[in-house]
Amino acid sequence: MAIHCPICNKSSDDIRFIGEFCEDCTIDRLKRKIPDSAEVYQCKSCERIRVGMDNFQLTKSALTAAIKTVLKAPDCDFKVVSYSKTDAVLRFKCTVEGSTVEFDKRIGLRIRKWMCRDCVRKVSGYYEALVQLRGDTFLVERMLKKMESYIERNNAFISKKERINSGYDLYISDKKLVSYFFSLYKLKPERSYTLYGMKKGKKLYRHIYSLRL
Ligand SMILES: [Zn+2]
Ligand SMILES: [Zn+2]
Repeated sequence: MAIHCPICNKSSDDIRFIGEFCEDCTIDRLKRKIPDSAEVYQCKSCERIRVGMDNFQLTKSALTAAIKTVLKAPDCDFKVVSYSKTDAVLRFKCTVEGSTVEFDKRIGLRIRKWMCRDCVRKVSGYYEALVQLRGDTFLVERMLKKMESYIERNNAFISKKERINSGYDLYISDKKLVSYFFSLYKLKPERSYTLYGMKKGKKLYRHIYSLRL
């Protein structure tokens, strides 16, 4: 026995029903509840987008995560299937009365330009670790390349690079990462520390690593 949708009068012979309404009307109703736009923060310097406390290169999955922090769609999951500078198409999967419905909705993107913490630090010459590479020119250059690409891959930065007679001085934003790099490659630099300030009653140290190659 066919039933008819109370909104559009379509028959259950022709279209799937979700409860007492046809799938089209169910999707219309869901779409109307979903906001038409979302605000996304993008760093004007490195162009990464903010997701919670972190920043990521603009990709579909990063954009999905960023939008999820601001766009609420109860009983639905979604992901970005395409995007431009001004809008994004989201593919929704929602659960209604125990059934799953899927549909796409285009929303506007309101891109807010700001400056992420890393870029603020970069501009101000921030660093936590000074790495002094010394020794054989060939080995120093090779180590420099290795470190630079490692630092970049792991979302940190080199705020200053100085060429000096027997090598390089690198001023690096993240001392944990530097220490991890050395243990990863089983390198044993000489370590020392200089006090450079206080934060919430704790002394802040800069780490100095001297690596002879
Ligand atoms: Zn209907
Ligand atoms: Zn940035």
